[in-house]
Amino acid sequence: MTSQPTTPTTTATDDVVRVEDLQVNFYTQLGVVRALNGVSFNIPRGKVLGIVGESGCGKSITGMSIMQLVASVGKTEGGKILFNESAGGNPINILDYERNSPEMRKIRGNNISMIFQEPMSSLNPCYTISDQIEEAIRLHQTEDKVESRKRAIEVLTKVGMPNPDRIADSFPHELSGGMRQRAMIAMALSCTPTLLIADEPTTALDVTTEANILDLMRELQSEIGTSIMFITHNMGVVAQMCDEVAVMYLGRVVERATVDDIFYEPRHPYTIALLQSIPRLGRTKGILASIEGSVPDPYSRVTGCPFHPRCPVAIKGVCDTILPEETIVDAAKGHTVRCHLYS
Ligand code: SF4
Repeated sequence: MTSQPTTPTTTATDDVVRVEDLQVNFYTQLGVVRALNGVSFNIPRGKVLGIVGESGCGKSITGMSIMQLVASVGKTEGGKILFNESAGGNPINILDYERNSPEMRKIRGNNISMIFQEPMSSLNPCYTISDQIEEAIRLHQTEDKVESRKRAIEVLTKVGMPNPDRIADSFPHELSGGMRQRAMIAMALSCTPTLLIADEPTTALDVTTEANILDLMRELQSEIGTSIMFITHNMGVVAQMCDEVAVMYLGRVVERATVDDIFYEPRHPYTIALLQSIPRLGRTKGILASIEGSVPDPYSRVTGCPFHPRCPVAIKGVCDTILPEETIVDAAKGHTVRCHLYS
């Protein structure tokens, strides 16, 4: 990687981000973990894209790669991450910048922000909430202390924090889980980013607080117009939050569609199995379906379709030997799937 951007590449649609064939490997003492094996997707401007899949499928690594926050044992060894700050502008390839370059520090926290899963471990316990929000504002927006304090209070008010002046001077341990997550959202939105990456932001919260936080994120998204990449393993959250969905399995996007198509016309056997394993209110008979087997050992390489050892409709001699290409099943709605049943 170099610090110099290459010639800008144009994207066909107005996408805030277009990830193309992204490959990330982790070099550990036990061997190489191929975390991302050619991930491709786009996030249209102003939309919410849900990234779903089981633990270990590469959802968080994809988000971390866009922020250039992958741990040092991880190496990005192929692909592009094209980020387009404004409609009609020229996209830049984020991977052209070193992770600690001034260009990347300018983008991170300013144009692209991230909300992490566990706010207690993401907020610094030694600084007040205001100090932590103001740090981003002073770095990217204004160095004026009075103005940055004013903006910090404004953004805390916007996320529905009760008594924002008092909360601003509190330390993270003095707040409840829901309030800490609101503070994280306030920090992420303090510089009105073009893209917000939310990595399972409600997993650590109880269901009532989760519902409040999801409502708040949807409200803020439509008010500010920020595009959101929403990483989750919860299909209920996807239905509530997302416009479009990318389903990931073993470091690849296996199906991409609108949220309605994912729920009403899923095509990939893995997506169908994921949906069948959701508990439903009122269902009193039968055993809840589960996906047979487990995600393969990350150090091994599965030949053919990565889902074939668990797939109930795998075609012998085909699925276990040939990797399925991406097939368009509905061009108008952008529905694509990686499965031999459709190729
Ligand atoms: Fe199942 Fe074959 Fe489709 Fe893979 S390619 S999901 S194994 S049917």
